[in-house]
Amino acid sequence: MEVIDTQFADQISLLLQSPSPLQVQEYFDDLLTTKRSHGVQVKPTNHYGKGVYADMDFEEGDLVLKDPMLVGIQHSSNKIDCLVCGCCFCFIGSIEMQIGRKLFLQGLGGPKDVCFNEKLELLMHEKLELPYSKKFPLPGVINCPGGCKEVYYCSKSCAQADWDNCHSLLCTGEGSKSLNNKALSKFIQHANETNDIFLLAAKAISCTILKYRSLKAVYDKEKDKEKNHVSDVLGNHNFSLLLKAWKPLLMGYKRRWWDCIALPIDVDVSEEDSFRMQIKQLAFESLELLKAAILDEECLPLFSLEIYGHIIGMFELNNLDLVVASPVEDYFLYIDDLPEAEKKEVDEITRPFFDALGEGYSVCCEGTAFFPIQSCMNHSCCPNAKAFKRDEDRDGQATIIACKHIKKGEEVTISYIDEDLELEVRRALLADYGFICKCPRCVEEDHSS
Ligand SMILES: [Zn+2]
Ligand SMILES: [Zn+2]
Ligand SMILES: [Zn+2]
Repeated sequence: MEVIDTQFADQISLLLQSPSPLQVQEYFDDLLTTKRSHGVQVKPTNHYGKGVYADMDFEEGDLVLKDPMLVGIQHSSNKIDCLVCGCCFCFIGSIEMQIGRKLFLQGLGGPKDVCFNEKLELLMHEKLELPYSKKFPLPGVINCPGGCKEVYYCSKSCAQADWDNCHSLLCTGEGSKSLNNKALSKFIQHANETNDIFLLAAKAISCTILKYRSLKAVYDKEKDKEKNHVSDVLGNHNFSLLLKAWKPLLMGYKRRWWDCIALPIDVDVSEEDSFRMQIKQLAFESLELLKAAILDEECLPLFSLEIYGHIIGMFELNNLDLVVASPVEDYFLYIDDLPEAEKKEVDEITRPFFDALGEGYSVCCEGTAFFPIQSCMNHSCCPNAKAFKRDEDRDGQATIIACKHIKKGEEVTISYIDEDLELEVRRALLADYGFICKCPRCVEEDHSS
């Protein structure tokens, strides 16, 4: 057991308790009001904790909800393919920059075609213009205010929002607010080499620390105003502020990562215990690196292995994909659709790049994120809604669309798995989420089998 885990056992158990129905109701009513989402409500339920309910009638194809993420990451392996805003995840730069950068980075270390590489550099730096690329304009690239050259943004407001929300602690530039940039780089490298879910956990922790600090600043200011203020001998106000900063994460369903992670197919059941120990050890290593980088003395419980394991477990269980379609795909489809005569001329310029990209020309931005409202949606094998992005949805928000008529007051459900699978297969997959499905379809198929 770790020192922090024993020393702060009471506070840790308060951070990990399930929120009361009243807390759930208050938090989500507040969230939906500030986001001006009027179509749905989140309500506590007897069986599953909470659920999302329609607050109006929806027809098939209607937008039920857009759910901005609490925290999200682009997968490390996807960063070569797509240059996106580090805050809202929309594509940035230009069609030329997207294509040039990707091919240039892919080609590093490979055989060198000097002439082609020169062209790529020109593309990357927007000194070579491709025909019709202006029809697919993207926002310009804004640097990180901390100067890290690792994260870029679509706008000053996205850069500032990300900086205030979490990046100031996780930036490796000279403006970083971390304790030690070298330690931070080590943590990031470890996550890139093992599992980038650690980067998401670090964002969640940074976000909580920064929120705590801003609550504390307001609190201290208020206290200074009171002339005869009572001193907090026990310092308990600090923990109540931390609990407040933690609230968005308190709402998510959590289990320890090493307890809830699904056993990979290539691991034998007899190896299960040692597999789970290895996962725990990996989390421990990652946490030690994170502590060296951003430990905050006033937020120590956040750096316990217990909390770290539960945060990662929460992401594992909610398993929500972040997907943004690529404008490069649209661009090449457009070129392909040009009238024959014109296409021939244009194709001569674009063909070498298209061929070099190969099948990867259409790769979208892929990552993992936590969407607070989508994560409250319960599963059904005959769902009435689905997570589905429309053409206009070009950022990292989750988009939920009705796939049949939904009456006001009805629960909105999505399928966590491929619902076309057979009952037995669905059951096995859903076991990883820790429940047995009792949806009308499962009940019926169970009776008839
Ligand atoms: Zn943005
Ligand atoms: Zn930075
Ligand atoms: Zn079912």
